[in-house]
Amino acid sequence: VKFDSAKILKALRVDAPERFELAAVDCDYTAGVDKDDAEKVLAADKERLSELQERLYAEDRWALLIVLQGMDAAGKDSIVSHVMSGVNPQGCEVHSFKAPSAEELGHDFLWRTTTRLPARGRIGIFNRSYYEDVLVVRVRPQLLAEQKVPRKLVGASIWEERHQDIRAFERHLTRSGTVVLKFFLHLSKEEQRRRFLDRLEVPAKRWKFSMNDVTERQRFEGYMAAYQDMIRATSRACAPWHVVPADHKWFARLVVAAAVIEALEGLSLTYPKVGAADLKEMRKIEKALKAQAPRKRRKT
Ligand code: ATP
Ligand code: MG
Repeated sequence: VKFDSAKILKALRVDAPERFELAAVDCDYTAGVDKDDAEKVLAADKERLSELQERLYAEDRWALLIVLQGMDAAGKDSIVSHVMSGVNPQGCEVHSFKAPSAEELGHDFLWRTTTRLPARGRIGIFNRSYYEDVLVVRVRPQLLAEQKVPRKLVGASIWEERHQDIRAFERHLTRSGTVVLKFFLHLSKEEQRRRFLDRLEVPAKRWKFSMNDVTERQRFEGYMAAYQDMIRATSRACAPWHVVPADHKWFARLVVAAAVIEALEGLSLTYPKVGAADLKEMRKIEKALKAQAPRKRRKT
């Protein structure tokens, strides 16, 4: 089966957000691709990605921000390790955002992630992000109370206000040259159950299990409602959401890799050109280096 990435990405990108229905997305979807084919495509994609990343770095104008969101065990870590394994670690940074520290709670909700944004030429991956502030914080009202926002500013419209602020923030980023790509790894409740069981049964995976995961699972439906509302409010042409069916990890990897490649290709990245004067100078140096008698290597 051929993997028509442009077509699949278009289908998974939320570009009619006002009509978006999370329940209409099948977590089990694989676009008719099978695992073996996917692995071949992914291997080629990694090479392409590595090439594009080098150009991004050399050109030093654009930055790429990849936002990963999803329920526990949705496969965020696995996306990071598989998709980015081919790129030069010097041009790529991963930041994971957990429950905020006391210092972070002393600031507005966009502060901690802002300090971690990728510089020009870089790829930055946010494993969770400021979106937690309209997801977990919305689903667990106690967390909002802990945020120390002046009481008078916390009203019924706080989520809509945060969505608005996120939209404005992302528009600002894109206008400054940061491409923003957002992925919601959409895992079914049943597949989450299987993955949790796996974490409990396989000794090497037990460290990944946390008691907190079970309490969050009890709020699964609340999370889905918050996700749907958030995606409707913040998927815009300049910073679209991709809702990625994530019950098959290999399919999710394929989609994210393809989206990153498509985004980078859209930038028509080129290596900086050397000016005529510099080129002339380089030719001289080249000539001089060639004229030097080669020294024999010492035998070891
Ligand atoms: P994994 O469990 O796969 O190792 P993880 O991203 O779930 O990765 P955890 O150590 O479980 O990592 O910590 C993440 C937790 O922190 C999540 O439950 C998340 O909702 C929570 N969190 C993230 N941002 C915030 C925030 N702004 N406010 C409150 N909780 C947050
Ligand atoms: Mg967790």
